[in-house]
Amino acid sequence: MYDVIIIGAGFAGLTAARTILKTASNARVLVLEAQTRLGGRCLTSRDFAGPVDVGCSWIHGYREGSVVRELTDELGVKCFVPNKGKSCMIFGSKVLDADLATKLSKNMSKALSTAASTASADIATSLASSLLAPSSPLFGALDSSSEQHLAKSLARTLEIGMGVQLEEVSLSCFGYEDSAKGTDAAIVGGYDTLIQKLAEEIKKMGGEIRLGSKAQDLAAEEGSDTSVSLNIVAQNDAQRASSRLVISTIPLSLLQKNRSELFKALSPRKLHAIDNVHVGKLGKLVISYENAWWPTDTGVFTVLPTEDDSVSTGSPENRLHDLFRSVPLVVSSFAIRSAPDDVQPPPSTHPTLLIYIPVPIVAEIEGQSASEVGQAMHGYLAESLPKEGVVPEGPRQSVLTNWAHDPYALGATSTPLTIKSVSAGISPTSFIELGRPESLGADDGKPRVLFAGEHTSVNNRGSVTGAVESGLREGRRAAQLLDL
Ligand SMILES: Cc1cc2nc3c(=O)[nH]c(=O)nc-3n(C[C@H](O)[C@H](O)[C@H](O)COP(=O)(O)OP(=O)(O)OC[C@H]3O[C@@H](n4cnc5c(N)ncnc54)[C@H](O)[C@@H]3O)c2cc1C
Repeated sequence: MYDVIIIGAGFAGLTAARTILKTASNARVLVLEAQTRLGGRCLTSRDFAGPVDVGCSWIHGYREGSVVRELTDELGVKCFVPNKGKSCMIFGSKVLDADLATKLSKNMSKALSTAASTASADIATSLASSLLAPSSPLFGALDSSSEQHLAKSLARTLEIGMGVQLEEVSLSCFGYEDSAKGTDAAIVGGYDTLIQKLAEEIKKMGGEIRLGSKAQDLAAEEGSDTSVSLNIVAQNDAQRASSRLVISTIPLSLLQKNRSELFKALSPRKLHAIDNVHVGKLGKLVISYENAWWPTDTGVFTVLPTEDDSVSTGSPENRLHDLFRSVPLVVSSFAIRSAPDDVQPPPSTHPTLLIYIPVPIVAEIEGQSASEVGQAMHGYLAESLPKEGVVPEGPRQSVLTNWAHDPYALGATSTPLTIKSVSAGISPTSFIELGRPESLGADDGKPRVLFAGEHTSVNNRGSVTGAVESGLREGRRAAQLLDL
C-alpha cells in the first residue's frame, strides 16, 4: 500500500511528488506515467544542432515572480532571458516599414488592454467583436484599408497562444488571469532538463516512478477509511494497486474522453466542469538547414496572411501552401545568438526555424508527413522571408508535433473561456472546481482523489506555471490530509 499514487509524470505530477517527499521523507510515493518518457506536454527535440522545445518553451513571468523560477533556482537549473534580436513583419514578401510595424504592435497592445478591461455582461459577445470593431484602438491612426487589414491579421497572432479563435472567446471573462504575462526566460539545454532534474530528485528522496504504466478504474476501496484502488496497465499486464490517496494530473482532454473508464464516480459539478471547459490546439514545425539563408540578426519573423479567410481549393501540393498563407505565422530563428556566452558557450546557434502552427489549420496539418509539411513550409518561407543574397537550399530535416492527435495530450491546453463554455455555466471558478478533491462516491465523503494539472489553476491555466502551482497545492494538501 502506497501513501500516495500520482498519475502523470508531467510538471504537475513531478512537482506534487517532490512536495510530498520534501515534507515527509519516509512517505511511500509512486508516480505512474502511461508513456515511456517523462514530461507530458514538455518535450525537447534533440534532432537538431541544439535542443528545441516542441512542447512548452518559455518560463513566463520570470522576473515578475514565478514558481517555475523558484523550482529552477532550487534545483540548480540554469535559465536565461534570451536576446530575441530584431523582429520584423512581412506581408506579401515585403518587410513592413519599421514605423508601421511598431504602430501595429502598439495598437494591438492597446486593443488587448481595452478588451481585457471591458465589462461585458453579455456572455455571447466575443473577443473578436471588441478587438476587431471599427472603433477598436487596433485601428488607431491607420487610415488605409490595407493598413487596417494588416492590423486585423496581426490580431490573429493572439490565436497562437490562446489555442482558440478570437470569435470563440467570450469577452465577459477575458483577461482576468495572469497567464503568460511578463518576461519570458528559457532553460539552458531545453525545458526537459528541469523535468529530468525533478525526476532525479524524486528518486533520490525514495520516490518511485514507473514509466509505461497507465492508471485506470479508480474506485474507493471497500471497508477502508479513505483508500483508493486502481488498475495499473503496463505492457498487456494489469495489476491492482492501492494507496491512501491518489493525485490525478491527467490532462483535461483525456478526462473528457475517458472519464468513465478512469473514475468510478465523480460529483456532478466536477463532471460539468470537465465536460464544458474548452481545450485548444497549437502545433510546432521545426525545419533545419545546412546554412541560414535568412537574416541572422532577426529572431522573429511575423508573416501576415495574404489570403483573407478562405482557402482556395487546388492541387494537394498547393493545399499546404494555401493553408500557410491563410493565417499569420510566427517564425522563430535559432540562427541568432540568443544566450550570453557565460550561460551557454558557443556554438549555441543553429540554422533552424521554428514555426507555430495556429488553431485554424493545426488539426489538418498535424498528422501529415513532417518532411512534406517542412518542404511546403520551406517553399512558402523562401518566397516570403528576406534573403541574404543566397538562393535558399531545401531543408535538411523537419520535425512536426502531433499534440492534437497524441493520445496523451489530445490538444494543447485549456483555453480562455469560450462563448460556448460560458453559455453552459462555466466561469473562472470552474478551474477551482476542476482542482477540488473527490471522494469517488464513498458515503463518508472524505477526499480520496486530488486533482492537479494546468487545467486546475485559476490564474495560470494553460502554462507550466499553472501545472507547477497545482502540483505544489495538491502535494501540500496530500501531506496534510495524510498527516505526513
Ligand atoms: C505546443 C505547446 C507549447 C507550449 N508552450 C508553453 C510555454 O512556452 N510556456 C508555458 O508555460 N506553457 C506552455 N505550454 C503548456 C505547458 O506545456 C502545459 O501547461 C504543461 O506542460 C502541462 O503540465 P501537466 O503536468 O498539467 O500535464 P502534462 O504535461 O500533460 O502531464 C500529464 C501526464 O499524465 C500522463 N497520463 C495521462 N493519462 C494517464 C494515465 N491514465 N495513467 C498514467 N499517466 C497518464 C500523460 O502521459 C502526461 O505525461 C505549451 C503547450 C504546448 C502543447
